[in-house]
Amino acid sequence: MDNRFQKTRNDFPILNQKVNDESLVYLDNAATSQKPNQVIDELVRFYRNDNANVHRSVHTLGERATEEYETARQKVQKFINAKDTREVIFTKGTTDSLNLVASTYGAENITASDEIVISIMEHHSNLIPWQQLAIKKGATLKYIGLTADGQLDMEDAQSKITDKTKIVAIAHVSNVLGVTNDIKKIAQIAHSHNAVIVVDGAQAVPHMKVDVQDLKVDFYAFSGHKMLGPMGIGVLYGKTALLNKMSPYQYGGEMIDFVEKDFSTWTELPWKFEAGTQNVAGAIGLGRAIDYLTTIGMDNIAKYETELVSYLLPRLLRIDSIEVYGPHDVGIHNGVVSFNIKGLHPHDVATALDMDGVAVRAGHHCAQPLMKYLGVVATVRASFYFYNSKADADKLLQAIAETKEFFN
Ligand code: PLP
Repeated sequence: MDNRFQKTRNDFPILNQKVNDESLVYLDNAATSQKPNQVIDELVRFYRNDNANVHRSVHTLGERATEEYETARQKVQKFINAKDTREVIFTKGTTDSLNLVASTYGAENITASDEIVISIMEHHSNLIPWQQLAIKKGATLKYIGLTADGQLDMEDAQSKITDKTKIVAIAHVSNVLGVTNDIKKIAQIAHSHNAVIVVDGAQAVPHMKVDVQDLKVDFYAFSGHKMLGPMGIGVLYGKTALLNKMSPYQYGGEMIDFVEKDFSTWTELPWKFEAGTQNVAGAIGLGRAIDYLTTIGMDNIAKYETELVSYLLPRLLRIDSIEVYGPHDVGIHNGVVSFNIKGLHPHDVATALDMDGVAVRAGHHCAQPLMKYLGVVATVRASFYFYNSKADADKLLQAIAETKEFFN
């Protein structure tokens, strides 16, 4: 296993601490990632030296802040291979990005005779905006189901996406099941029916190379805080032709061209969708996070996380009374592992693991329809990032063994 990743641990001061007298093992990366010194320092540097509002002031600080903010946009554009910086809109995060699309493109294009297709594995962020849009418009919301081993059922996708479908909204990577969906294929199916595809990339962009042009997606949403960046910053990628046709999401400062007493016109992309003072420091911090990830290499990160899960999964499955949700095949499982210990409530398990310094999440993971589909109320979820190690997986396995013993 590549020990280059172990060196990165020193960049994350938060990881070097004791929790409940045990060395912290942070396995809640699907909820949020930790931040390296480089990103923390960048935020401090911006506020110490360059803080000013962007696109407004001609003074030196204002110009510096604007340049740094727009440089961050270029970094995002390059990172996801968008054609143009106009296609990169800064938002608060994935949830905000998806709500933007539902309440602009969705509201303007969905009618009562239309269908919206999502999947049963969606996070509430990529479910409720479409559910509420369907309710408001009297449209139909359809759910693609799963195969027996917990992957997206592509045959079901083929049959649910039809000429009536106007929007297909799918997670690139599930935050529960450890699966990566074939977005390229789903985009192809959607486009063959003249539907647009909206992708929730919250769990994908931090962990693998994402190329929006290669995937041929129309909209793609992700969050900065899950990829080493600050909270409160995220991205919506959208194709220029679609974004140009859409109305603004919010109205106010910065997004206008011209305002009269009775009417207003809007400025160009991407600022048309960035009303009011933006999270400038957040965008710059995200830019620094992208530099950091790029130096390591997204393909290296993906490969290393697969190695970690290939180590953990068979050992986890060998433990008596453990149920793992999602595929058991290490070849297709990514760094999110959901499980339960039979007879124990997931919250009790997570509390017991925390006593051993192991931070995991227990709950419905903002995916209640998926929990119902799986026939559980909640699961325990361990989620890895490149700064985790085989030793972290061992500590989890040991803490699970101790938890079982404690409750028996
Ligand atoms: N979609 C998925 C798959 C997620 O895992 C998450 C966060 O956990 C979100 C959307 C929402 O992201 P945010 O809370 O950053 O908006």
